[in-house]
Amino acid sequence: MTAVATRYETVIGLEVHCQLITKSKMFCSCSADYARADPNTHVCPVCLGMPGVLPVINEQAIEYIVMTGLALNCRIAEFSKFDRKNYPYPDLMKGYQISQYDLPVCSDGWLDIAPEGAGPRRVGITRVHMEEDTARLLHRTDAVTGEGYSLIDINRSGTPLMEIVSEPDMRTPAEARDYLVRLRQILRYIGVSEANMEDGNFRCDANVSLRPVGAEAFGTKVEVKNMNSFRAVHDAIAFEEVRQAGMLDRGERITQETRGWVDDTRETVSQRTKEHANDYRYFPEPDLPP
Ligand SMILES: [Zn+2]
Repeated sequence: MTAVATRYETVIGLEVHCQLITKSKMFCSCSADYARADPNTHVCPVCLGMPGVLPVINEQAIEYIVMTGLALNCRIAEFSKFDRKNYPYPDLMKGYQISQYDLPVCSDGWLDIAPEGAGPRRVGITRVHMEEDTARLLHRTDAVTGEGYSLIDINRSGTPLMEIVSEPDMRTPAEARDYLVRLRQILRYIGVSEANMEDGNFRCDANVSLRPVGAEAFGTKVEVKNMNSFRAVHDAIAFEEVRQAGMLDRGERITQETRGWVDDTRETVSQRTKEHANDYRYFPEPDLPP
């Protein structure tokens, strides 16, 4: 047991974004193979976000998410719908992302984990929902002027993305890593995703909070992003445990925020204060049938 663990219990929930292996994108017939193509070659009016075009649901993607839900012991919804998630960002071609809000395809599942040297634990799966991925932004610095600029590759825009949200049931960095290892194994076994973290088709955000040992109420959670390997997830959570314990020991309040993991310096840094769900102005997607 670490020094931190004698005083505080760590509460960890994971959100995994996973690219599905479909031939075409989520709502158009463009090839979904974005990584191996030249930039901006797999595009059409739908995934470019042109006005007046209509999306069509990819049947294979729905089959894959149902398979995933069954493999994760989820309830499969008999009625599901898509919603628009609105936010302004240059990687979003339409100005909104088609996602799912209150009626995801899969919910209420679980995944059993058993990290080496620790007991088994059942981790609840809150939901698995379907959405579309965004375009890819590449940030560069001009070699002559030293000025920053960004390139955009729209190939990834509209590719099928599945989000798997866990309950805050994990308690150690080792449990979080074991959850990801087992989840990756399942997704590869049923053949729905390459689930390769280094290639970015299996991405993980971690919600981490601390509470005094024995306490019921959750502490303020911090969302950690930018982790590109299982080791990074493990180390970022371990870093947060120590950082948050130090703040609590000094009587400071934990700020609810998003922090990014920096591989070079092995630390998390503040990125932005946490936005709330209603900032996204979710509403039912009028262009797609439930
Ligand atoms: Zn397209």
